[in-house]
Amino acid sequence: MEAMYTLKQIPSEVQIRKFLRRTLFGKNVFCPLCRSRKVARYESRFRCLACRRRFSLLSHTWLSNLKLPLQVWWTLLWCWTIREPVLQAQELTHLPERTIRRWYATFREHLPREEHVLERIVQMDEAYFKKAALVMAKQKGTRKLAYTVMHNRFPNKTDVMDFLFEKVKPGSELWTDGGSIYIGAGKRWPVTHSRDIHSKFEFEHTSEIEGVFGVYRTFVRRMYHHHWSENLDQYVREFCFRFSSPELFGNPRTYLLKSLMLVPTR
Ligand SMILES: [Zn+2]
Repeated sequence: MEAMYTLKQIPSEVQIRKFLRRTLFGKNVFCPLCRSRKVARYESRFRCLACRRRFSLLSHTWLSNLKLPLQVWWTLLWCWTIREPVLQAQELTHLPERTIRRWYATFREHLPREEHVLERIVQMDEAYFKKAALVMAKQKGTRKLAYTVMHNRFPNKTDVMDFLFEKVKPGSELWTDGGSIYIGAGKRWPVTHSRDIHSKFEFEHTSEIEGVFGVYRTFVRRMYHHHWSENLDQYVREFCFRFSSPELFGNPRTYLLKSLMLVPTR
């Protein structure tokens, strides 16, 4: 347990608390429920003089159930931002593996919403996993990705159509391989469609998206050690964020500034 506190990347308990307070409240603490600044402090709890409700630093955030010491939790978040494999994070924090996996999943869940609509030249392809399929597209020459996941079935022409309708701008060029699910795509959605025929050793049209699938498989295997298809949506969501918004994962602070906010609902 002692080892991690000496890591220079991990701020002190006081520094973490101060960062969380500044991120959530700015300079002066206010009531998350009625926003009154008339609050009384009682140890680490606050009481609102206006609406007479109690709150704490994290009570109205997705960290309301945080029970780990702040430095241990910060170490876990730091591990997740730098893609530390689960088992190495376990060695570093001495927490049970399931606790690490649960926190990694929680960090992933609270990534901000991100929806890309792809345009210009769009490469689209599918990849297969145990009992699941992933249809993904990449705007050529950019880091923009869009995807959809199927469980216990193969993607079909309707899935391709729905995907194009939601995620690809009309007027784009669509590049795919010769797969039968893509046949006629250009007739059902206004895109200019061209296909490679892999049996003729043509791969130019899907080279970038096929590269992304390779990077995805390596990412999951390295960080999570195993690919559970039931988590495919979550893994891919995390992967796409890391791919298109690497700045969010610079350190725990950059991630928290984008993901931590007051939810004044209780
Ligand atoms: Zn209040």
